Amino acid sequence: MKLCKRCLYPENHPLNITFDNKGICSGCKIHEEKDVLNWNERFNKLKLIIKPYKSSKRSINNCIVPVSGARDSFFIVHVVKNILKMNPILVTYNKQYNTEEGIKNLSLLKTVFGCPLLTNTISPKKIKKITKITLKKFGSIYWHCIAGQTVFPVQIACKMKIPLIIWGAHQGIDQVGMFSHLDEVEMTRKYRKEHDLLGFEAEDLLKFNLKKNDLEDFFYPEDNEIENVGVRGIYLNNYIRWDTKAQHEYIIKKYKYNILEQQRTFDNCNDVDCYHYSGLHDYIKLIKFGYSKVVDHATREIRLKRINRSDGIKLVRKYINKKPKDINIFLNWLGIKQPFFYKILNKFKNKSLSKIYYSNLKIKNKKKFLKKNKSFVFKKKIFNINYKKGKYILLGKGW
Ligand SMILES: [Zn+2]
Repeated sequence: MKLCKRCLYPENHPLNITFDNKGICSGCKIHEEKDVLNWNERFNKLKLIIKPYKSSKRSINNCIVPVSGARDSFFIVHVVKNILKMNPILVTYNKQYNTEEGIKNLSLLKTVFGCPLLTNTISPKKIKKITKITLKKFGSIYWHCIAGQTVFPVQIACKMKIPLIIWGAHQGIDQVGMFSHLDEVEMTRKYRKEHDLLGFEAEDLLKFNLKKNDLEDFFYPEDNEIENVGVRGIYLNNYIRWDTKAQHEYIIKKYKYNILEQQRTFDNCNDVDCYHYSGLHDYIKLIKFGYSKVVDHATREIRLKRINRSDGIKLVRKYINKKPKDINIFLNWLGIKQPFFYKILNKFKNKSLSKIYYSNLKIKNKKKFLKKNKSFVFKKKIFNINYKKGKYILLGKGW
């Protein structure tokens, strides 16, 4: 297994990665732009792009911001509402696997920014039916979440005739450097299908014994509907120097965003809304690709020069093989037994991957990293989950 010489990404990264002749990955090469581009100029470019939408008289709301309540939701709404002075409508797909802190954060987001929030909550019965299929066919418990998150904003844009959707970071740029920031890539149906949805659009699931009625919430609007409204989705990381950790520090301080201890990574800020994103879903990623969320987070920190590669390796070793504690919560919800579940997972195990390749890497200093480095300790209470009693909150009022 070939790893980047600068960060910790492997050659089989699912978003596609390439290496130069010095063994440096495309993600690291594109990351260099973050230190050379004139970000004031880039931000002014963004202001020019949104200008016609700001003065549009089509609707009271002049853009759509997809949110989850976690990750970069607060930061994006902060930029759009308070800095760009837009009037966004927030949209969220209810991924069902919600934690209490996630529900609280979403309520807080709605309250502090005073923006309308549209939620798509699909019946759990339908979602279970779909998830049983995606688990068996693609080894994914998360297909419906990604499909819902990426389609609901586009459906609302078409229905409400609000053409501009503003997203946070394009992962094809930020993680693997598939595009330059200067390409200013926008949302496309093709990228969504190929990279977000493992190659399967909702229509492709019809052949697996699912009906149109089960899947129609996930159907992407037709091209002519999109063209009639002129829907486009832009990414803020093309115009703002993206640094998730710095953004989290800012929103924790300014908006009292809640953070939650994560099982399989050191970053307690990112995926606080979901029981499984950094748990079982991440563990499945390890089985399939041999890398996981902690590698993403360590890579990000190495590239932003807050830690060195050796410290990154130590962080990865600490978390990568931890068995997630949220497996039974998922199995009870879906109504399947452990042996059956493990049989499915085994089918997707990439046997050519050496489980220990992060363990074999050489490190320069052997001192324990976490004790000496305080940069990940936020002055904020970190909540915990009781995984034995844990249960999803489908709908909640926050507090
Ligand atoms: Zn790299």
